[in-house]
Amino acid sequence: MQSFVTVSVNKEKINLLNFDRKGLQAFFAEIGEKPFRATQLIKWIYQEGEFDFDKMSNLSKSLRAYLNEHCCIVAPEIILEQVASDGTRKWIVEMGGGNKVEAVYIPEATRATLCVSSQVGCALACTFCSTAQQGFNRNLTTAEIIGQLMAANARMGAEGRVTNVVMMGMGEPLLNFDNVVPAMNLMTEDFAFGLSKRRVTISTSGVVPAMYRLTEVCDISMAVSLHASTDELRDILVPINQKYPLKELMAACKKYIEGSPRGFITFEYVMLEGINDSVADARALVKLLKNVPSKMNLIPFNPFPNTQYRCSSKAAIEQFRDVVHKAGIITTVRKTRGEDIDAACGQLVGKVLDKSRRAERLQKMGLLS
Ligand code: SAH
Repeated sequence: MQSFVTVSVNKEKINLLNFDRKGLQAFFAEIGEKPFRATQLIKWIYQEGEFDFDKMSNLSKSLRAYLNEHCCIVAPEIILEQVASDGTRKWIVEMGGGNKVEAVYIPEATRATLCVSSQVGCALACTFCSTAQQGFNRNLTTAEIIGQLMAANARMGAEGRVTNVVMMGMGEPLLNFDNVVPAMNLMTEDFAFGLSKRRVTISTSGVVPAMYRLTEVCDISMAVSLHASTDELRDILVPINQKYPLKELMAACKKYIEGSPRGFITFEYVMLEGINDSVADARALVKLLKNVPSKMNLIPFNPFPNTQYRCSSKAAIEQFRDVVHKAGIITTVRKTRGEDIDAACGQLVGKVLDKSRRAERLQKMGLLS
């Protein structure tokens, strides 16, 4: 498998992939360089794929020397690829120190979507999500987040370039705000990836204060993992609801929509048999979203080992969809992709962590060098 890293890791040096354009401008100001240097450097890195400072011909000789001495450009590496029968690819991305996350590439006729992780594991304990069972390890850096997109494009080449990004991999992006926002900025930055704000979506379980904060700095598309229309049920399925209940969440959604490029929020709703999938549930949902411009994305539940939930029947999903749809909310049922490689929503990383733990145990027992 093709390796992506071109510069060896040097912890002493500043990794320039951690800066968006503004951050890079501030960094250059500190070392007495003009702001336009930031644009030049970003073009070299993200448009030319050039990581060697000496080859960045429009930078001054002295700046190149400075960058060589103090800075580096280090992207994470894809260490494993699995390709599903439907063309979906799951990549295990190595973040150093045994930390691994997953990115999922989903090709369709007219677009290619990359599902990007924001944290190693997740601190939220959503009961229907397998990532939650892994616990939380650490936040990803901006370089590690944007690096997933760089790695995807390097792997797929011009033909398979990523056109859409969803922050729906492992982790809660809004709990890693300071690293996620610069990565989002690089995705939509003209001199970097130049993706439209409509094609970059942040997905949150509803970290209300961070949703407000986001309205002030970034106006990419927003998806909210709703899954229930009463606090009673949402408290169980998405426990962060105990802290930020539905009333507060809906108010934050409305505020976000005011400045959003799409004028609506996509609500995700995982279909759990006998839990949240009745006609009454659908009606309650319609009532909840009455004054919130929304699109609804119903997600068939993807099972994982030891889960207490089952996916709703096809008939129940269709009935639910029809009730919501007839009430005037555009409703789609998410097609499950990459099922045969455990790349579907909520299935990420379990097996790899299991393996690494097993290796650890074997090592302790002296059975593995
Ligand atoms: N923490 C963020 C982003 C990651 S989850 C969030 O909660 O939005 C991405 C989507 O997958 C969320 O809507 C999540 O609720 C959904 N999901 C999680 N586990 C799932 C499962 N087992 N089956 C189907 N969807 C799941």
